[in-house]
Order: sequence, then C-alpha cells, then structure tokens
Amino acid sequence: MSEVQHEISISQDPVASQDLVAASAVEAPIQNSAPKALVAKGKNSKKAQVSEGAYPLEVSPTPEYVAHRIALFDELKKKADEADAAQPRVPISITMPDGFIREGIAWETTPMEIAKSISKSLSERVVIAKVDKVLWDLERPLISSCQLEFLDFEDEEGRAVFWHSSAHVLGEACEKHYGCHLCVGPPIEEGFYYEMGMKDERLVSSSDYENLETCAKNAIKEKQPFQRLEMSKEDLLEMFKHNQYKIQLIESKIPDGTSTTVYRCGPLIDLCRGPHLPHTGRIKSFAVLKNSASYFLGDAKNDSLQRIYGVSFPDAKQMAEHKKFLAEAARRDHRRIGREQELFFFHELSPGSCFFLPHGARIYNTLMSFIKKEYRQRGYTEVMSPNMFNVKLWKTSGHWDNYKDDMFMFDVEKETFGLKPMNCPGHCLMFDVRERSYRELPLRFADFGVLHRNEASGSLGGLTRVRRFQQDDAHLFCRLDQLGQEMDATLDFLQHVYGIFGFEFSLALSTRPEKYLGNIEEWDVAEKHLADALDRFGRPWTINPGDGAFYGPKIDILIRDSLRRNHQCATLQLDFQLPLRFNLQYRNQGDGESDFSRPIIIHRAMLGSLERMIAILTENCAGKWDLWLSPRQIQIIPVAAKPEILAYAEKIKKEMELEGDFFVDLDSSDATLNKKIRNAELAQYNFIFVIGAEEVASGSVNVRSRDEIQENKVKGQVRPLDEVMQKLRILRDSKAKGSRI
Ligand SMILES: [Zn+2]
Ligand SMILES: [Zn+2]
Repeated sequence: MSEVQHEISISQDPVASQDLVAASAVEAPIQNSAPKALVAKGKNSKKAQVSEGAYPLEVSPTPEYVAHRIALFDELKKKADEADAAQPRVPISITMPDGFIREGIAWETTPMEIAKSISKSLSERVVIAKVDKVLWDLERPLISSCQLEFLDFEDEEGRAVFWHSSAHVLGEACEKHYGCHLCVGPPIEEGFYYEMGMKDERLVSSSDYENLETCAKNAIKEKQPFQRLEMSKEDLLEMFKHNQYKIQLIESKIPDGTSTTVYRCGPLIDLCRGPHLPHTGRIKSFAVLKNSASYFLGDAKNDSLQRIYGVSFPDAKQMAEHKKFLAEAARRDHRRIGREQELFFFHELSPGSCFFLPHGARIYNTLMSFIKKEYRQRGYTEVMSPNMFNVKLWKTSGHWDNYKDDMFMFDVEKETFGLKPMNCPGHCLMFDVRERSYRELPLRFADFGVLHRNEASGSLGGLTRVRRFQQDDAHLFCRLDQLGQEMDATLDFLQHVYGIFGFEFSLALSTRPEKYLGNIEEWDVAEKHLADALDRFGRPWTINPGDGAFYGPKIDILIRDSLRRNHQCATLQLDFQLPLRFNLQYRNQGDGESDFSRPIIIHRAMLGSLERMIAILTENCAGKWDLWLSPRQIQIIPVAAKPEILAYAEKIKKEMELEGDFFVDLDSSDATLNKKIRNAELAQYNFIFVIGAEEVASGSVNVRSRDEIQENKVKGQVRPLDEVMQKLRILRDSKAKGSRI
C-alpha cells in the first residue's frame, strides 16, 4: 500500500490534462478498446460522458470476492482473538512524553483507553499512537511496558495515517461502485489515491465522482472499525486469489514462510501494514478530486490501471479551505498561465522537454542575464562543457553506481555514453586540465549547461518535473581556509536573489547520513564550517540530522510562495569526495615537489532549475509579471488608423526597443479602442501607451499602468515620452515590484 507508483502520461496535451483539479475522463492507453460511449476524446469529452446515470450506485451482483474474503477473515480472526485472549495479563507501565507513568495490563490496555483517561477531547482528536517510536493502532492492545505518544491530524505522520485510512474508504467505494480489482492506495502530499484494474475495461469518468462519494460517505456513516489481522503468506494467497495485482504483490514482497497483516473496514479487506484510524467515522469530510490512468507498478509493460485521487479531513471547515486553496492554485497553475500567455508548451514527441515560445524565452533569458550579471560582480567565471560523456566519466564520478537509472545512456561507436544530469564531473575535468596553484583558488566555474534526467514519463508535470533543464549551476573549488568566506558569499548571494523575488526562505543544515563516504573528522569539520556560516548569516536555521548527501553535508533552502507552499530551489553542498575521485589537487605555497593539497568543491545553485523556477515565479505572481521579468512590458495602441498616428506609434516602438531595450508590441488591429485596451490588460502588459493626435502633436504618450488601473481605477495620463522612458528604465533596473511610474 505504501509504494507510490509513477503515473503515466495520459493525454496528447499534457498542459491541459495535468491541471490540478482536472476532472474530466481521460483517454488512457488501454490496449483493447473500451466501450465507445465511455471513451472520452479530446474536446468532445463532455458529450462522451452523457452515459451519466447509466451506472447504478453499487454493482450488482456483489463481486464474489467480497464474501470469500470475509469468510476467511472471520475464521482466522476468531482463531487470532482466541490466541490473544490466552496471552498472560501482566501489569505494564506506560511512559508518556512528559515522563508521567501510567499503569496498564499487557494485551488488554489500548492507547485509546489511555487517551480517554487523559481527556475526552484528546481521545477524539488523536489520529494514531506511537509506541516506542513505532506507529500503532489506537485500539490495538499494548503488549509490554513502553513509551507512548499521541499524534493528531496536524502532525505530518498523523495526517499520513488519516489519508492512508481514507484511501481504504475510497477503495471500498470503488469496489462497491465498479466491482474492480484494487491495486495500491497510498497517502500522498495532499490526500491519497487508489488505483485499480477495471472490470470490462470501463474507464473512470468525472460523472462517477458523486456515486463514489456517496459510497464513501455511507462507509463513514457506519463508523466501520479498522480490524487488524496477521496472516500467513499461504492464507493471503487464498484470500486474494481473485485479484491478480494483490497476488503479484504478495508473491514478490512477502518472503515464503512469513506473514503480514490485512485490515478490514466494512466489506473491504485489504493487504496492508497499517496502522489506521480507529474507525471510518473519524473522517468528517471526504471528496474525490480527479482521476488519471497509470500502469501497474508504474511499468508500461504492465496492465493499464485507473487511478482516483481524493482528499479528506477531520473537519468540514478544513475541506472548504482546501477546496478554496485548490481553486486558487488552479487559477495560478503555471501550465494554464503558460498556455494563456503563450509562454511555453510541451509536445508528446519530447515528453518532459519544454518548448519556450518567444515570450517564455524572454523570461528565461532575463533570469539568466540577471544571474550572469551577479556572476561578474561576485567573481565567478562562466564555462561551457559537453552534454554527453563516455561512461568512464560516470564511473569515476560515482554516477554509474548511484545515479545510472536516472540518466539517459546510449551507445556511440560501441562505447556507452550518458547525457549529463549534472555539470560537476565535467567541471572536475576542467579543473584538472593543467596543474593548479593555491593562488588560483577559489575557482568559481558557472555553467548554464543543458542537463537531462531520465524521469518516468508518468511523473512529468509541467515545468516542475522535466527531463531537460538548465540550472544556474556553479562549482566553487576552494581551499579549506577559504571555506568560510565562500559560504558567507554564497549565503549573501542567496539573500540578494530571493530578496528581489520577495520569497521568504528557511535554512536547515543537513548532516552526515548513515551511509557516507570519507572519514568522520572531515565531516565534523565541514559541518562545523556550515554551522558557523549559518550563525554568521544571522537568520534562524534548523538541523536535519542524517539528511546530508552521501558525499558531504549541505544547507537546504526552502522558499515559500504566495500560497504558502514550500519549494526547494537553491542548493549549497560541500563535497570532499568528487575531488578525491578525480584526484584533484593544487600546488601549495611551499615549493616542495610533492607539496599538493586537495581542493574542496562547493556545489551551489540559486535559482536551481530555471524551468522549475519559472513555474514557481509564474504561480507566485499569477501571471502578473513585474516589469523587469515581464515578457510583455509595453503595448502601444493607436486610437485610429491614421497615417500620422501609425507612423508615430512605430517610431515610439523603435525607440523603446532600441534605446530602452524594452519588449514592446504594437496593436494595429481593427478592433475598437476599448477592445484593444481590454486585450492588453488581459495579456498583463505592464504599461499601455495610447496614441492619438494630441500625443503625436506634443511628443507624448498616454500611459496606463497595469497596477494603478487595477488598484485605483485610474485612467491614463499624458506624459512626455522621454520622461516615461526614463522612469520605466529606473523601475526595470531596480527590479522593483509593481507597475507604477
Ligand atoms: Zn492501510
Ligand atoms: Zn554539482
């Protein structure tokens, strides 16, 4: 139940199909053709779903597997209960997080009883228990003295249990409505899904959602307890003999001679390690949000499955808030804005590689120029390095052992090559091209090189997960005594960049993981350097113990967007291993023949992937770009098609483009003035210049600024062109927020 499979690509137009709350049936790549009326195709999808109401709430007759599972469950559960009843009832002591010790009896006392004895409100609020740091069903008796904690929905693990339990309710609803064969149903970041193999190749349609929600609400009303039962592999194979997917999971995941658990709620008995809510009645609000197609185990060679996404809450108010959030997120979705503003698109002929249209390329290039300018001021040097390398490089760098599955590999003249997923190994070759002296360090190699990572096609989603991308990547080769200054400079760079975007960010130091390369002393020194740099930086920071990369500790930087969502974009990592693997060294100050030292590498990026950053920026500003990043800065609108007005409009356009270096468009269409202004406003031009006879005569423009008009309903103002150009330049170059001059 816990494995998240990759979704497969589901439509010819991924931009359209991946909308957050897309609720239409999708065309799944099913090998056999589905009943015609149910296959929704492109624009006719609404019509194709006229089969609404054609399906009853519950399939009839009830699938045979339901009674079969319950009969076996009842028989085994009775035996298990008898065995539990025979366990010795000895006193145990239960230590609470505050150190308070409560008395209980082994095999009798449950965490729920203890919660109730503390307070009624706690017992109603708690989602799951933690016994000796392991999640534990609230109604499952404790078996020995232990430490006990309670988690509620606000706790991340508690929420995962809540949504995981809700996935069972969704599974139950799907079995009732479709008579399908369930596959896996894990919790995800915002809710949960269940995927299933359908009977008669029926496809899920948005018109099914109401029925599914009704079935789920019925299960919730019944307050079905989640009952746990441990079963042997043989019994499991018998219980799930009707379901080829569960059989495959049992056979591949459960070693012979061992056992695992199933959980029952109502008629559903599911293979699951648990734990769960005490009963389904804890779910106060439940919604089906969207559906898609997927493959069993994420492998395109396997059966095509249908996947249904849902979300649930312990309080109806939270659902209302969540739906509001989803609507706002959908309004801001970068895929939608990218389409509307003609910024970028994806094509099925190159999944995960974005096409940036002219206006999108403007944003891309502006971001790159911004960082390049910073590089010049901050002592970086730009380099360019190859895209494909012989596999020997990847073996030296360690990518072959640790990262091969995420790379595109292919043969060239009988040798294996790989497209680079990162620039670092190439930069090591550049460092090593000749002998280096201590005087040359730090060397700061910056590279906007194109990177490729082999993401499963189903996991691709707009610009946030792509196969082809560029980073504002740089590698700082430095001496140990330079580490402090380099860290300080990098954190200053970070503050500068995110200050301009207006992102709040949080910092965390990720320390040595269990599996690490190198020696502990080196790690301790490096971690100390990072911690000291963070202290000097002066902002609050936290520690993520054991979360460092295997080659070195790092600082994780999370930015928060206007919807309070967190994104990791910047990275700052110390690396002792790559210099070792590439045997990098520099000559020390002394002139002894063998007086060489190894440099340290700092991997760092500020924007991270430009693609991802553009997605975040698009959603953060909801398509209302600040002037400096805007792909549509000025729209010139002539009030009439008179030759002198058009000539003046053309002249201004040239001036603003050539002298001002602005992005200017001229609307010389036949539309009415009001219509032209409206169009320019919808396209989010920062400024509109309206040109009429008066402006021609006085060498001025009538300026309408986007934000002033939207905020104060101010009409345009007639101003001299020189002054306007001057003010716009200042506004753009300061990268200030808002379009007002
Ligand atoms: Zn479960
Ligand atoms: Zn790197």
